[in-house]
Amino acid sequence: MEQERTNRNCPLWGTETCARLNMRACRGCPAEDKDARECNDIREDVDTFYRLLPEEGIAALFTDEMCTLCKGEQKGKRESWGLFDMGHADPRERKKKLSLFRSKTYGFVAPLQFGCCRDCRRRYQLLGLLPTLTTIVILGGTLLIVAQEPVAQSLRNVWRGLPLVVMALAAGISYILGKALVKVLRDRFNQRTYMDLKDHPMVQRMASLGWESILDGKYPQPVFTRKRLTYGVGTAEPEAPEEKISSDGENLD
Ligand SMILES: [Zn+2]
Repeated sequence: MEQERTNRNCPLWGTETCARLNMRACRGCPAEDKDARECNDIREDVDTFYRLLPEEGIAALFTDEMCTLCKGEQKGKRESWGLFDMGHADPRERKKKLSLFRSKTYGFVAPLQFGCCRDCRRRYQLLGLLPTLTTIVILGGTLLIVAQEPVAQSLRNVWRGLPLVVMALAAGISYILGKALVKVLRDRFNQRTYMDLKDHPMVQRMASLGWESILDGKYPQPVFTRKRLTYGVGTAEPEAPEEKISSDGENLD
């Protein structure tokens, strides 16, 4: 990929940190117009971030041509990415005093980008839509029936408030049914797709290193996109093996 990193005066130009920052251009880079000392701080930040990541890195999630959310041997072809952020406290920060009012903050955020096939994406999207769909069908259907004057009339003949009670019942039923359907379908989809990201090997590996999901909730959903994040820390593709050998060589000098 052709990148415009043209500022050779930058203390970080051409270094591993520059590659890891993975900015499209020097303009807009965190190191833009920074002096050597500030650039050193940036380098330390980036190094700390990489030390916290699994040794093998997170790039395989987005470079793999096949789906990384499929379970089992047979994987679908990647056609989008599911974005999912995990956060980690800054290990260099001294522990703050316990405060009831301190909201949770993360020193580092790792953008996980799960390469995803069409089927896995659709399973996630269907589950997300299901509660709304159930409500529309059941509540809408009930309303259509109750709104018919003969039906409304016969309900009112029993008791004046009965049409309202029927609608309230329909709302309750659609809520409960929506939840039940989601559960049944999630269990079914879960045989083919990692529907609970906490079960995914990479998320478990990250969790064992102190990373956690930034999203609350039992089943945090990835955000699907056709174009993955291609710049910023954590988005760089791993170096080709030859480059690695030469940079290792330089380090030995
Ligand atoms: Zn898949």
